Amino acid sequence: MVKPVPVTSPLLPPLEDFIPYLQQIWDSRRLTNGGPFHEQLEKELAEYLGVEHLCLFANGTLALVTALQALRVTGEVITTPYSFVATAHSLLWNGLKPVFVDIDPHTCNLDPAKIEEAITPLTTAILPVHCYGTPCDTDRIQRIADTYGLKVIYDAAHAFAVRQDGTSILRNGDLSILSFHATKVFNTFEGGAIVCPDAKIKQRVDFLKNFGFADEVTVVAPGINGKMSEVNAAFGLLQLKHIDAALARRQRIDGMYRDALKAVKGISFACQDRQGHNYSYFPILVGDDFGISRDELYESFRERDILVRRYFYPLISQFPMYRGGDSARDARLPIAREISSRVLCLPIYDSLSDELLDQVVALIKAHAAESSR
Ligand SMILES: *Cc1c(COP(=O)(O)O)cnc(C)c1O
Repeated sequence: MVKPVPVTSPLLPPLEDFIPYLQQIWDSRRLTNGGPFHEQLEKELAEYLGVEHLCLFANGTLALVTALQALRVTGEVITTPYSFVATAHSLLWNGLKPVFVDIDPHTCNLDPAKIEEAITPLTTAILPVHCYGTPCDTDRIQRIADTYGLKVIYDAAHAFAVRQDGTSILRNGDLSILSFHATKVFNTFEGGAIVCPDAKIKQRVDFLKNFGFADEVTVVAPGINGKMSEVNAAFGLLQLKHIDAALARRQRIDGMYRDALKAVKGISFACQDRQGHNYSYFPILVGDDFGISRDELYESFRERDILVRRYFYPLISQFPMYRGGDSARDARLPIAREISSRVLCLPIYDSLSDELLDQVVALIKAHAAESSR
């Protein structure tokens, strides 16, 4: 039995390297609530990423939900339909109305040129996503936010370690959130974080993720339980030792895919600018001139047990809890619709072998050759 090839596979250091961390937890009997590994991971991650402060969370979705609470966002929030569904779900969990705005075809991110026309008197914030780890046009988004007095929360779940002009992409906006889910570039099994620009907002987020407790007897907000456990934090510290090698391998895979596929008729790359990138995904777009459709190519991969994924299809705006909204209408989101119907994410992860990569490339080229005959 040959194992299926997944679209991603988690970074996992040798098990024996993790045992000493577990021993320490058993010795200290500190399992959670800001234990020593939690504190150390907050510090080391902030240093590694080049940000001021970071609050660890049990997962990225709780980080998103809490970030919106921390900034007291109300009313309407402008966001992208081209993302993982948790982006918009975090708005519904806060009783907020998502207003979908179309994306830029070159970045797959919220198109800043279309944000202003979506602003109403009820708009209080913008929730963009650095899709596939490609930076949003942060300068333009900030100018719009400043002009209209809006908060900006970046869903940076794909953007671990991404840099722009030498600085972390996570330093933009009022807050950024990260996900450390198993499928992400850096994982703690489950986990996430809010990146905070100053100690004041970090303190508020720290209260909010622990039921709103400011001290033993004082509850200052209707907080939630968003805390990361010591086991997850310890695993994160071990992962940090391996992350540079994993990112380097991803970069090589990205380069090999690009070289092998750039001349294939009907195949284009969904992300162009790879400066400071983390190579978290490898999305291709299947054009009409490829010969077979995106879905036929998808099925062809599946038949061979190569589990490519259609990120992001369907659009968030097409799910039942969103599709009734005016901004969710297809006519409003032509670019997102188009890319969503053509995109296919190829396998990319640190342990992907050159042989498997060659198989993926060979299948695409075989279909291309067939259609040009
Ligand atoms: C993974 C992801 C999330 C959710 O993170 P979890 O840690 O799985 O809760 C949110 N937004 C985007 C864009 C994601 O890809």
